[in-house]
Amino acid sequence: MIKKTEPKYLALVEFVAEALRKVQIGFDEYQKECFVSRPSEFFCLELNGEAGELANIEKKVWKGKEIPHEKFESEAADVLIALMNYCNAKDVNLGQAVSDKLQQIEQKRLALKQNNEEY
Ligand SMILES: [Mg+2]
Repeated sequence: MIKKTEPKYLALVEFVAEALRKVQIGFDEYQKECFVSRPSEFFCLELNGEAGELANIEKKVWKGKEIPHEKFESEAADVLIALMNYCNAKDVNLGQAVSDKLQQIEQKRLALKQNNEEY
């Protein structure tokens, strides 16, 4: 549902909903065809494990180590894949949820902007 989002961001909100819907369907088909079925709890744990791996390499950078950029890409991909699998197992419509959240963020941002505050 489109509300008070600035017109220039309406296209983003609509695009995100549709693009994520297609990506999520693709992951669902791939998962069902090629892997054993797992409950949402499994994917939630996997998601948090992968997010932890991403956080760990950021921590290494923070401590002064050099990490190849490909490692960040690999872990970010793991996070996205785990999130898609979680949403499919939990029957979460991620595209709609992100679209709704973007609109909430934009409404809050605009309300703050009217008071010369930053989000
Ligand atoms: Mg990983």
